[in-house]
Amino acid sequence: MQPTSPMQPTQPPMQSTQQPIQPMQQPRQPMQQSRQSHCVDVAGIPIGGGAPIVVQSMTDTDTADVAATVAQVRLLAEAGSELVRITVDRDEAAAAVPRIREALDRAGIRVPLVGDFHYNGHRLLAAHPAAAAALDKYRINPGNVGPRAKRDRRFAEIIEIALEHDKPVRIGVNWGSLDQSLLTRLMDENARRPEPQDARQVLHEALVRSALDSAARAEALGLGPERIVISAKVSAVPDLITVYRMLAARSRYALHLGLTEAGMGMKGTVASSAAIGILLNEGIGDTIRVSLTPEPGGDRCEEVRICQQILQALGLRSFAPVVSACPGCGRTTSARFRELAQEVEAFLAARMPEWRRRYRGVENLSVAVMGCIVNGPGESKHADIGISLPGSGEAPAAPVYVEGEKVATLRGEDIAGAFTAIIEDYVRARFGNGESLSSAPTAGSAHGASCRSRA
Ligand code: SF4
Repeated sequence: MQPTSPMQPTQPPMQSTQQPIQPMQQPRQPMQQSRQSHCVDVAGIPIGGGAPIVVQSMTDTDTADVAATVAQVRLLAEAGSELVRITVDRDEAAAAVPRIREALDRAGIRVPLVGDFHYNGHRLLAAHPAAAAALDKYRINPGNVGPRAKRDRRFAEIIEIALEHDKPVRIGVNWGSLDQSLLTRLMDENARRPEPQDARQVLHEALVRSALDSAARAEALGLGPERIVISAKVSAVPDLITVYRMLAARSRYALHLGLTEAGMGMKGTVASSAAIGILLNEGIGDTIRVSLTPEPGGDRCEEVRICQQILQALGLRSFAPVVSACPGCGRTTSARFRELAQEVEAFLAARMPEWRRRYRGVENLSVAVMGCIVNGPGESKHADIGISLPGSGEAPAAPVYVEGEKVATLRGEDIAGAFTAIIEDYVRARFGNGESLSSAPTAGSAHGASCRSRA
């Protein structure tokens, strides 16, 4: 496109003095009705019972290193993690937990902390009552509590400490550490059947049975179902879907979803999104974690952003404005529309921290950046704000649509500046009602909901 003149809107963009524009789009509803699960209160964050799906993550610092762990918990919480799990693997780590909590509280970071225990959780929780009190939930793996003879006693000790401190517990079964005695028993029973199931079906049953039997044992010890979250993680997508469908059909416990050992980069992201997305779309799952292996030197917060993207893509929660952009094709040979899409994304990311504080609901904004006239105007009209750039051979003008109405035609070199100015005006006009949200929680937080309000 040749620059013909400075940007000339055919109509002035909206001014903040105009009446706020009513939302055109309603939030989408999940495709299937959510499964009815018990609501588990984790220090004010409700999991299950129809509450918003909770995003959680886990640190990879040495918990004994208080400064490093506080710094990473803070980053994860600021990225939008509503629970953060930390490893509690030895006395030094357990002793650090109350100091981590205090440092976070001093910094105004209220995110609940979950302690991840294996093998020696019973001993660490008993020896470090301040850690038991400072943690908001305990995660235990029934396959890693101890050898068979000691397992039931150690499991009971952990549940008794949870009762003493009024803490919920996640019973997290894992494919890699499945209770071998249970698996052997189920394999033997299966072998005696007239028509045995295949080994994979028996493994699925063993995972489900291990989680549900452990939860039943916890209930028998006095821990109510509103204090129990369960998970049964595997690393293959079809297995995870099968196992969680079985768990959902057989219980009302709140469910923590996630692939274990999802892997790195694109592979881990796609596998986690496929597994979690399919289950959430069936109404199964109350809290999610993407167990992504970061690239060396990579950003641990990426797993939080992927969780948010999954929930937003499914229409379950909104965290940030959505930018729809066409993939481009032979009709648009210049890189201009790709650059514009990138500039708009960067503009929204830069403005969101302030907008989130000032404008309630701004995360529901939708923006379209399209490459030519084929789908451009149509797609742009479906977004709150859209722009359609000229494709090859089209007139060098970029129409802008606000809530389906053409409001301007942009020309010249600074289309990005003019378009982002229109977005800024629109956000102020639609979402600015003078109400300061300066105490608003982090991105897309489920704060504001509670188990009591869902009873
Ligand atoms: S909107 Fe135009 S440029 Fe974009 S993919 Fe479709 S035909 Fe190609």
